[in-house]
Amino acid sequence: MTNSRDSSLRERARAVVPGGMWGHMNAVALPEGYPQFFARGAGSRLWDVDGHEYVDFMCSWGPIILGHHHPEVDAAARRQWDQGDCLNGPSEAMVELAETFVEIVPHADWVQFQKNGTDATTTAVTIARSGTKRRKILVAKGAYHGAVPWCSPSLVGVTTEDRAHIITYIYNDIASLEAAVMEAGDDLAGIIVSAFQHDYGQDQHLPTVSFAQAARAICDRTGAALIVDDVRAGFRLSLGGSWETVGVKPDLSAWSKAIANGFTLAAVTGNNRFRDATSSIFTTGSFWCSAMSMAAAVATLTVLRRDDGVGHMTRLGQSLRDGLAGLSQQYSMPIRQTGPVQMPMVLFDDDADHRKGFAFCAAAIQQGVYFHPLHNMFLSAAHTAEDIARALDAAEHGFKAARAVAPAHD
Ligand code: PMP
Repeated sequence: MTNSRDSSLRERARAVVPGGMWGHMNAVALPEGYPQFFARGAGSRLWDVDGHEYVDFMCSWGPIILGHHHPEVDAAARRQWDQGDCLNGPSEAMVELAETFVEIVPHADWVQFQKNGTDATTTAVTIARSGTKRRKILVAKGAYHGAVPWCSPSLVGVTTEDRAHIITYIYNDIASLEAAVMEAGDDLAGIIVSAFQHDYGQDQHLPTVSFAQAARAICDRTGAALIVDDVRAGFRLSLGGSWETVGVKPDLSAWSKAIANGFTLAAVTGNNRFRDATSSIFTTGSFWCSAMSMAAAVATLTVLRRDDGVGHMTRLGQSLRDGLAGLSQQYSMPIRQTGPVQMPMVLFDDDADHRKGFAFCAAAIQQGVYFHPLHNMFLSAAHTAEDIARALDAAEHGFKAARAVAPAHD
């Protein structure tokens, strides 16, 4: 597989972009053969700048929920583009989208829109502080909520003061949550929880019902805000929000990634208890009113609802999981598949240095299937049974490659 255009773009980028690329999308962290630069996407497929085609199991790290370039979403966006996108304020699409959210999401009495997931989580935290007039925010150890000082996974460039009012607890561990609540004392503004535990490079864990109920009860008792960070999982587990699956309603939820099928949009939904707190904070962004993304989001929700996107992703995700489990047995290479099937996480046993996972993915990418060795992956409503068959074919090459790098068993 030649990657000459990708190599030359990397070299040019290194000269004019610090590090060649920032953050988690820097392909140097990926196995050999992974492209950095992409040319286009259509449905479940993606093409790199050297013309290689991939069945895409990252879906742009989540945003692509109906497939790349979904015709109905693109048509809605184009119609709005023809009218205007960046205007002196919002368009009608904002009200239509807000009404749609309030209709679909049971805890939502109102919505406010932003651009990125970090905007939404940070806004939700600010609303919690504004509504309670308190400062402490409880965050699960290892959870990702964005890339600004209060929550960045890196401490480089972050001051102690930036984290002064953050207290950590362990996801799904009620005792540790209670201890964090004690530490916050009468200054508890909110508890932020991921939709499920989806920490980088770790097995995933769904929230237990008892943990979700305990978090809700603490917030009811103390008046703090329960915030679900649904940025990554939103609309893949349930259109009403991921904690619908455990029967617990948050006060606030942060959304982004999939809500506009790849158009740039984020949202905070909340209940009436936090309505005034929300209108009292100052929050804005030059592009937060972009009408095109909002029109795209209305179309995305319409199609997801009409075509039971969640059901489709669940069925195909299950067949991928079943197929991988069968191959893992066949090749005697035990793997752990955790979390919801529509957001697969695949980790090899006895693979602390990730050699097996990397060999598996490096072999699969050669077969035209884009997996990720350490991050959860994503199904979309555009994946087909044929895509899953191709993925399993590629996975067979992957298991052979992983076996070849595995230390011999005694
Ligand atoms: N929260 C979660 C759970 C996420 O997965 C992400 C993005 N990976 C964010 C927040 C931040 O979103 P963004 O990168 O759009 O700012």
